[in-house]
Amino acid sequence: MLLTESTAFVPWNELNSVDKMQIDWQRAINDILASKLSCPRCGALVEQVMAGYMRTPEAAQWAPLCEGCTKRDNCDARKFVILCPSCAAETRLRGRPLNEQGFMLSLMEECRRSLDESLEYISDYWREDLDVDPDEMDKRLEDVEPDLFKEEDTWRRYVEEQYLKVHSWLRERHVAVPNPGWRSEYVEEVIVAGYTTLLGD
Ligand SMILES: [Zn+2]
Ligand SMILES: [Zn+2]
Repeated sequence: MLLTESTAFVPWNELNSVDKMQIDWQRAINDILASKLSCPRCGALVEQVMAGYMRTPEAAQWAPLCEGCTKRDNCDARKFVILCPSCAAETRLRGRPLNEQGFMLSLMEECRRSLDESLEYISDYWREDLDVDPDEMDKRLEDVEPDLFKEEDTWRRYVEEQYLKVHSWLRERHVAVPNPGWRSEYVEEVIVAGYTTLLGD
C-alpha cells in the first residue's frame, strides 16, 4: 500500500527549516499521536500550545479540523486554532495554554460540537438555510441538493475520523473520556435520521 502524503513520516528538522510552511494537519495530528506538540504556523516543538478561536480565512491553516473543510481557502467560520505562544502573540490569538492532553481533550470537544452541528444541518437546519418551499419540507437534503449533501457528509466523515483518532489516543493513555454518553446519543440520532456513522458499534 502506498503511503499518502498526509501519513508519510517527515523528520522534524525538515519541518523546522521551512519558514511559515503550510503544515499538513493530518501530519500534525499524527505527530501529537506520537507525543509531539507542534506549532502549525512556525513548526516549533513546544510543551504547551495556545488554543482559541479565530475567524480569519488565514487561520484555516492553523485549525486542526479545517483540513477537512471544503471552504478552506475562504473559510470564515469560527475556527478552533492552536499556535505556539509566540505565534499566538503575533497573530493576536486570545487563547488558553494547553498541554498535549489538554489539547486532545479540547479537540475532542470541538469534534463533538462540529458533529452535532453537522447532523443538525443535514437533518433539519438546511431547510431554513436554503429557504426551501413549504411543499418541499418533507424532502431530504440529499434529494434536493445532492452536491451540498455530499459536501456536508464528507465533512462529517472527516470529523468522525479525527474523533476516533483522539479517542484512541486517550484510551492508550488511560485518560477518561469526558461525558462518554455523548457518543451513543450521537450515534442514535444519526441512525434515526437515516444516515451512517463511523462511531457506531
Ligand atoms: Zn509558532
Ligand atoms: Zn474551515
